[in-house]
Amino acid sequence: MSMEEQLMNLKNEALSLILSAEDGKTLEEIKLQFLGRSGKLTLALKDIVKVPVENRAEVGKLANEVKQAVEEALERQEGFVKKETITKKRAAIDTSIPGIQPQIGHLHPMTQVMLDVVEVFKQIGFQAADGPEIETDHYNFEVLNIPKDHPARDTQMTFYLDTRNSKVTPGEVILRTQTSAMQGRVMQKVKPPVRVIVPGKNFRYEQVDASHGFEFWQVEGFCVDTHIRLTDLFGTIDYVLRRLMGQDIKLKFATTNFPFVEPGVDTYMECTVCKGKGCSFCKYAGWSEIMPAGMIHPNVLKAVGYDSQKVSGFAFAIGLSRLVTLRYHMDDLRLLTNPDLRILKQF
Ligand SMILES: [Zn+2]
Repeated sequence: MSMEEQLMNLKNEALSLILSAEDGKTLEEIKLQFLGRSGKLTLALKDIVKVPVENRAEVGKLANEVKQAVEEALERQEGFVKKETITKKRAAIDTSIPGIQPQIGHLHPMTQVMLDVVEVFKQIGFQAADGPEIETDHYNFEVLNIPKDHPARDTQMTFYLDTRNSKVTPGEVILRTQTSAMQGRVMQKVKPPVRVIVPGKNFRYEQVDASHGFEFWQVEGFCVDTHIRLTDLFGTIDYVLRRLMGQDIKLKFATTNFPFVEPGVDTYMECTVCKGKGCSFCKYAGWSEIMPAGMIHPNVLKAVGYDSQKVSGFAFAIGLSRLVTLRYHMDDLRLLTNPDLRILKQF
């Protein structure tokens, strides 16, 4: 291959590489490959001395042209690549392109209803208190007139915390089974009159079905003052439930028995799913039990240091999960803890 041919081949090789280069780094490498200290073109130029004297001037001229062409091509491509990059960057922040709307979350239906409950009670003078979910047997049972051997304990399937290798008496620390556990904690610190609600989570070792869960929300409430009567309890429940669920709901009260109240009252609301006809949600009763209540037992008042001869009070526990499913006509409590966004987006 003659020197001329060699030079032309180098030129073609370099130019094709340069034109297909897409970034500055590749161009830098090509430059080094041809024009570097031991670059292909540099070495070829050194060989010109070997060309016979009569041709040397002509080959030298060609060599310079090739070198110039490669340098120019490199420069042109560098400018082009830079411009491309800037255009791409501009496109990335093009403010004229319609934006992508981010998905915005909202409060869980349970939280919405809970805040509504707190608001309604606030308007009639109740304060909201928060308490521990890990509770002691003392506040969860003993203070509430449920001693260790009381059969009512059997109805509250309790989760006990593993307290091995600790100083805690076995069985003393539990997950609270009722927000009523806060009655003792609050009343020991506050003298009557007290009007308090305690929204919170409770835990029971229960079979999970459409209307029961092992974890459920309650709003405990209690009011202690002089001359508090059962009619005050009825009036409060009636007012609050109509504010929350609509003025046309149907309620009924029935007597029941809880150790911490005397007398005990159960509140039933006509099932909103079937309008009283009977469905799987209300177990074909037409009514849903939503609120056990009653007049606080004198033993509870005594246990927290109140004078049961001078003051009296009522207490209630709203089943918040039940209230939510009744309000939104959901036939399964388990939907509330289902993480499927298609369910939650409806609220
Ligand atoms: Zn029903």
